[in-house]
Amino acid sequence: MQKSEEATEDIKKEERLRCLSEASFEGIAVHEKGMIIEINRVFAEMFGYYYPEIIGMHALQLTAPESRDLVLQKIVSGYEGPYEAVCLRKDGSTFIAEVRGRSISYCGRMARVAAIRDITGNKQAEEELRKSHSNLSTLYSVSAAISRTISMDRLFDIVLETVTGLDIFNAERKGGIFIVEGSIMKLVSHLGHPDIFLDLHKDMKVGDCLCGLAAKTGEIIISKNSDDDMRHTVRYPGIHSHGHIIIPLKARYTIVGVLYLYLPADFDIDESMLNLLTSIGNQIGVAIDNAKLYEETRALSLLDPLTGLANRRMMDILFEKYLAGTQRSGTPLSVIMLDIDHFKKYNDTYGHDTGDKLLAQLGKLLLKEIREADLAVRYGGEEFLILLPETDLLKASETAERIRGFIESTLPTTVSIGVASYNLKIKKLGKIIKKADEALYMAKKKGRNRVEVAHV
Ligand code: GH3
Ligand code: MG
Ligand code: MG
Repeated sequence: MQKSEEATEDIKKEERLRCLSEASFEGIAVHEKGMIIEINRVFAEMFGYYYPEIIGMHALQLTAPESRDLVLQKIVSGYEGPYEAVCLRKDGSTFIAEVRGRSISYCGRMARVAAIRDITGNKQAEEELRKSHSNLSTLYSVSAAISRTISMDRLFDIVLETVTGLDIFNAERKGGIFIVEGSIMKLVSHLGHPDIFLDLHKDMKVGDCLCGLAAKTGEIIISKNSDDDMRHTVRYPGIHSHGHIIIPLKARYTIVGVLYLYLPADFDIDESMLNLLTSIGNQIGVAIDNAKLYEETRALSLLDPLTGLANRRMMDILFEKYLAGTQRSGTPLSVIMLDIDHFKKYNDTYGHDTGDKLLAQLGKLLLKEIREADLAVRYGGEEFLILLPETDLLKASETAERIRGFIESTLPTTVSIGVASYNLKIKKLGKIIKKADEALYMAKKKGRNRVEVAHV
């Protein structure tokens, strides 16, 4: 081939290459050891330069400082990629790019071509995805923690431990939960506070300091630095600069409490985090509401509505506790069983409603006559039972006699009573009650209005 023909062929090749590179969606640059000798239009646009400005520049001039070492190393080693680097535009702004390189023969010389793709959008989408995933898993941890418990006391501790343990908030393992009761703010769970803090927060009211403000307004309160936040009114010696996020805990209709977290002073928080905290606050609020309902229902279902005494379910639960104490320390435990004499006749004479009133009066009287540690139970229709921990048979029979006398002198009826105690032969509640019942039967048999003691 003639020299001129070869030159024409070269020009044609270059022309084709140019056409191809212009049609590309990627920025393409040809460089020799980093020195740029050719680019396509996309490349110039990506970096915000005009074509002639870039020719002769070094690739590192188009690289953000944090990526220069990396890019230099890739150029020197001839690494083909792909790899990610932060690129620098003419106006000083940056974008994240995926870079691939390859050696080529360019106009008779060995050079390298670099293809660059702006992946900032992908990175942002990835970051969004990562954030929303981490938000979801945070919500999940809180829900899971909440669903593990229905008792109020445990609920507060678990929520506090879970939320302060989440990296996502960058919070210290310090904070607490206040419950709103009318105008009072009661600190029901806390982490990492000195005694002086607890002392100062004993009589908090809605509206006081930042937590009271959150309870009053129902808004999330953000306080970047305690030192210069005038709303942060409760202060104590040794307090250090800190930030706060205070989240109102909202139930269906009311604000039931606030959760307060400690953050490093001058912290930053974005909108998605605030949304997340709002969701968490609502979730905890509803959980508190449910727990309250549960406690109320439980209290109702463990008490006899007519007399206000414990029912048999509550007796079963508490007896296990009493029994454990007795077995551990060897202290005695006694049972008094009490039955109204001729109650059927009483009902027949005065009517069922008057009978009910008598039962309620008897319940009140028993509650007044027993010690705090004792448990009075409505065992059946007109049968009552009293569990007396740390009380032996003799003391229990004295108590029974006192109660019998009191009923005789204050109520329009009499009762018969049987007394029994826990011992090595009578260990189960059923067995103790049976013994007390046998003694009661003896009392009835011997003429009623008397106390009989079970014999082992
Ligand atoms: P005794 O001296 O042997 O104990 O005779 P009693 O009549 O007291 O015993 P009995 O077991 O024959 O009758 C118990 C009565 O208690 C029958 C029942 O109508 C009454 N009773 C049970 N529960 C209630 C209640 O909740 N309200 C009212 N008013 N009466 C009840
Ligand atoms: Mg009876
Ligand atoms: Mg009776």
